[in-house]
Amino acid sequence: MSAHSAKGSSTNLSKREGHAVRTGQTKMRRILIIEDERDIVELVRYNLEKEGFQVIAVGDGATGLAQLKKSPPDLLVLDLMLPKLSGLEVCKEVRRDQALNRLPILMLTARGEEADRVLGLELGADDYVTKPFSPRELNARIKALLRRAEPARETPRPIEVGTLAIDPASYRVTRSGKHVPLSTLEFRLLYYLASRPNRVFTRDQLLDAVWGTDRFVTPRSVDVYVRRLREKIEADPENPAFVKTVRGAGYLFEMTSEPATIGRGTRAN
Ligand code: CA
Repeated sequence: MSAHSAKGSSTNLSKREGHAVRTGQTKMRRILIIEDERDIVELVRYNLEKEGFQVIAVGDGATGLAQLKKSPPDLLVLDLMLPKLSGLEVCKEVRRDQALNRLPILMLTARGEEADRVLGLELGADDYVTKPFSPRELNARIKALLRRAEPARETPRPIEVGTLAIDPASYRVTRSGKHVPLSTLEFRLLYYLASRPNRVFTRDQLLDAVWGTDRFVTPRSVDVYVRRLREKIEADPENPAFVKTVRGAGYLFEMTSEPATIGRGTRAN
């Protein structure tokens, strides 16, 4: 079988690293390709480097596995028919390895390898392309896999506890259905605590998390904000039900029963 030849593939491909460095943004993502067919390697390398990826190529399964363990890439492009150790074996080993088992794997398969393709997917490969493939398709698959592999951002979810409802999408808080006007910082402080219920945070931790780097406040300012917050959200600010003081430690948001949350998302604690 033969790969589609890329435009310009007759030019000196080994001198292209500089191009990838120029187009790379903050952190260049590394892709390892384990493939013994040179022209496919060069096609893949050419196209991925053009997209700003760093490409490392290895020609057999055993060396590939060693390379994976030595320096895990962001994604693996894995041929199935390989010398020394087959792609399926590599796949199995990767999924068995705790440090590697979340690595996205894109299989390169040939026509007639349907059974292996199914087995590969069962063994933990994430997707496949069939040779001959178009570089555009390969790039699209790789980008989709990388997107999927990104750690899921914590989706802010609404919180309801007792009479209190906190909606991070609108920065809106209601108590018994009545709107409670909060400043942005008051809201962020409340949401930070309420989304991590029953966990104690020191004043310094709260400053870092809520005020961030450009803070003009001292740890004592946290007390001021907490007092204001209590006046707004607590039925009895002197005897708070939600934002509790933990003497000598800091503050916590108390949730006595399982929170009635709306929407999806895991608990943040
Ligand atoms: Ca092969």
